Amino acid sequence: MMKGNIGITTENIFPVIKKFLYSDHEIFLRELVSNAVDATQKLRTLASKGEFKGELGDLTIQIAMDETAGTLTITDRGIGMTQEELDKYINQIAFSGANDFLEKYKDDANAIIGHFGLGFYSAFMVASQVEIFSLSHQEGAKAVHWTCDGSPEFTMEECDKADRGTSIVLHLADDCKEFAQKNKILELLRKYCRFLPVPIAVGKKTKWEEGKEVETDEPNVVNDTEPLWTKAPSTLKDEDYKKFYRELYPMADEPLFWIHLNVDFPFNLTGVLYFPQIKSNLDVHRDRIQLYCNQVFVTDHVENIVPDFLTLLHGVIDSPDIPLNVSRSYLQSDANVKKISTYIMKKVSDRLNEIFKDDRKDFEEKWDGLKLFIHYGLLSEPDFYDKAAKFALFKDVEGKYFTYDEYRDLIKAEQTDKDGTLVYLYTSDKEEQYSYIQAAKDKGYSVLLLDGQLDSPLVSMLESKFEKSRFSRVDGDTIERLIPKTDGQEVKFSATESAQLADAFKAAIPVVEKKEFHVMVEPMGEAAMPVVLTQSEYMRRMKEMSAIQAGMGFYGEMP
Ligand code: ADP
Ligand code: MG
Repeated sequence: MMKGNIGITTENIFPVIKKFLYSDHEIFLRELVSNAVDATQKLRTLASKGEFKGELGDLTIQIAMDETAGTLTITDRGIGMTQEELDKYINQIAFSGANDFLEKYKDDANAIIGHFGLGFYSAFMVASQVEIFSLSHQEGAKAVHWTCDGSPEFTMEECDKADRGTSIVLHLADDCKEFAQKNKILELLRKYCRFLPVPIAVGKKTKWEEGKEVETDEPNVVNDTEPLWTKAPSTLKDEDYKKFYRELYPMADEPLFWIHLNVDFPFNLTGVLYFPQIKSNLDVHRDRIQLYCNQVFVTDHVENIVPDFLTLLHGVIDSPDIPLNVSRSYLQSDANVKKISTYIMKKVSDRLNEIFKDDRKDFEEKWDGLKLFIHYGLLSEPDFYDKAAKFALFKDVEGKYFTYDEYRDLIKAEQTDKDGTLVYLYTSDKEEQYSYIQAAKDKGYSVLLLDGQLDSPLVSMLESKFEKSRFSRVDGDTIERLIPKTDGQEVKFSATESAQLADAFKAAIPVVEKKEFHVMVEPMGEAAMPVVLTQSEYMRRMKEMSAIQAGMGFYGEMP
């Protein structure tokens, strides 16, 4: 037997590891299972190069737990380790890696968010003792048994292990016994290991026989080793994308579109992004993009990796090139991360543009479910605006759709102010403003329906982007100023009549400030609207903005 001291400088690093990563200590399972996957993949590679000539056999990783003993065991049939390798990779390298990591981040606990980097030693976050049994794939190798109780001392000795590969046995600490429960482990595997590329089994599949649940011989594989995003887009059908979406979000409505991401230069990135239907606030779900690193789940908080508006999308991004073990502020300035988000934004706008061009009807049909997302992008990302302004749509009160350019051409000749400013008339409530809309139409004007949650800030922005243009909500004020194109007439009250009316209204409705009253008379002489209450455009927008900001808590830095 060999006894030794793990080469460390800190007196006892394990309590530190435990304390630092307490809130995330369940990630130990991801670390150990991904090591098992790595070992298996390495063996596959050796076999494919002809450097391993033995039988690969069944490569399924087995996870077993024993509630009574309080143990959890992870067994792979990968390359295994010789005693020398174990000494090097576990005693020296893995440990010094963990040590460096803690040294680096000890003053900045918040920085430890990416989780990666602790690897094997994260086992000590949940175990009071860890054992390794390993038999290398190399011919004539002897099996080795390593054990360590969380102090810097370990023991290492030869042992009997007939099967190639590695078993890691965790003797769970008293406050971590839950990790010996099957359901707990199934839950964690589903979260972190659902799409790993090697089959992972927890016990055997069961079936019901004569009212009793009995075990079959078939391993209970819990992961999908070839998730959709790893396949070639040409081999996939629409139904495959929809099916995968249902797997990820069983409760969600069908997605509107999707994009299959696939790039290997200048960085590696694969994934599928879905456009969900967003019709109201209730449909806004953030944290629906999952970030993977070589099929290992990392996080579903992708802010700072993709532009904020893209976090409204759903799906999966898989990239080994996103640095994971660093703080968020670092992520923001990382060049790779910048490139990745530029790439994704470009892909998203290209795809939307493609759908718009190829099938405008389909695009229009989906517009209402898509517009919140596009508007948010227009408002928050100038680069996206430059592209999306070509396919973003206006919808008029008749339900007809126009691109921004088309609409300008439509109203150019007719809808101008006395000083030549283009007037975009809009309503935010077709019912409430019905009579004004009618009046505007009677004067020959087109009216847009802008009733979306972001339409208020959008209008302000478009006013600044469009040349010599003004957006006006259809109301009494606006109608008055329109150059009439039909014979509608206005009948004004005299000053005395107006004053009397003002008093009467003020008594009933305290907010009334108007001093002048008028009646719109249609050509036939009937009063179109007996009474008109108006509010200035500015006041209304201010109110709407603050309501949106308070209600949505949705964008912090909207212009
Ligand atoms: P990393 O996986 O980032 O290299 P870890 O601390 O997770 O760091 O693991 C350290 C090393 O220990 C691995 O690189 C590998 O050489 C070895 N190792 C860990 N687990 C296994 C295993 N199940 N089979 C074979 N080697 C392993
Ligand atoms: Mg590892």
